[in-house]
Amino acid sequence: MKPVAGFIVIICLVVSLSIAAAQGIDETPLPSDATQAPIVTPTPLPRPTPTSVIEQDGTTVELFFNSIAQGQVGLVHVHGDGIAGARARLFNEMVDFFPIEDDGYYGLLSANMEQNPRTYDLNIFAWFEDNRRITINVPVEIVRGDFIRQEITMAPDRAYLVDAEIERGELARLESIFNQNTTDHLWDSLGFQMPILNSQLTSPFGAFRNFNGFLQTRHTGWDIRTTLGIPVMASAGGTVAFAGHLEIRGNLVVIDHGFGIFSTYSHLSQIHVTRGQSIVKGQIIGVTGDTGRSSGPHFHWEMAVNGNFVDSIQFTQTWLP
Ligand SMILES: [Zn+2]
Repeated sequence: MKPVAGFIVIICLVVSLSIAAAQGIDETPLPSDATQAPIVTPTPLPRPTPTSVIEQDGTTVELFFNSIAQGQVGLVHVHGDGIAGARARLFNEMVDFFPIEDDGYYGLLSANMEQNPRTYDLNIFAWFEDNRRITINVPVEIVRGDFIRQEITMAPDRAYLVDAEIERGELARLESIFNQNTTDHLWDSLGFQMPILNSQLTSPFGAFRNFNGFLQTRHTGWDIRTTLGIPVMASAGGTVAFAGHLEIRGNLVVIDHGFGIFSTYSHLSQIHVTRGQSIVKGQIIGVTGDTGRSSGPHFHWEMAVNGNFVDSIQFTQTWLP
């Protein structure tokens, strides 16, 4: 690099750092396992080898995980002659399995970030063309997630949003959206992608947060560093389940990908889609902003599976047929 070019790069760095400081961006130190480098998801992900295989009544169950950490997902595969459908129960939640042509049924399990770490019974129910029904019980171990603690100060003009009642109301609203579970496989075999190109992650999923010294809450998504007006893309194909304004998330888009999988895109300055609209992977659904409970332009990205917020980064790195 020529000395002049190097000097310009340094100037740009100093300017962008001082802009970040002036805007008071809600940026906490990166956790030790996070990286400054953009996360690149290889697409398509290779099909992994199952970690355990259970045979019962002429039916095969494959697990693609050893254990599931709080706030993460785990994939189950059921196949056998004449199988016509499957679902499962874990923590008293029902999970509908999705069919893959000539490859049986797959179910995506999710553990809430608050789920008590211990071993649970997974009950898999399968039914067959000859009306036979079987139940296969498999132990599933939930392990503690790796979450950091953060102290966050909201500026006085938005401090009214640091309110447990507003937070409960908004989570209930999202829960009712996530409960409208469509059984359409709307994502494609190339998986889920980051919504912003060259994303630099800041605040991690699941962090224990203390707002203004009195509101204890959890971080339900990942934060991505951004300036205003950057295009936000759909992580995968789906249908818009919500496009509007909520107090904490600001201008928000929620996409239903089918079978209990949702992605959400918060704090947008503009929304480019409407409820009910079909979306393809990578489609621009809005642009970044600073709306809602935000202390500077940033992007908050969530994924939910079966009503549980899950780690969206781990999700993009999970093979899903
Ligand atoms: Zn966030």
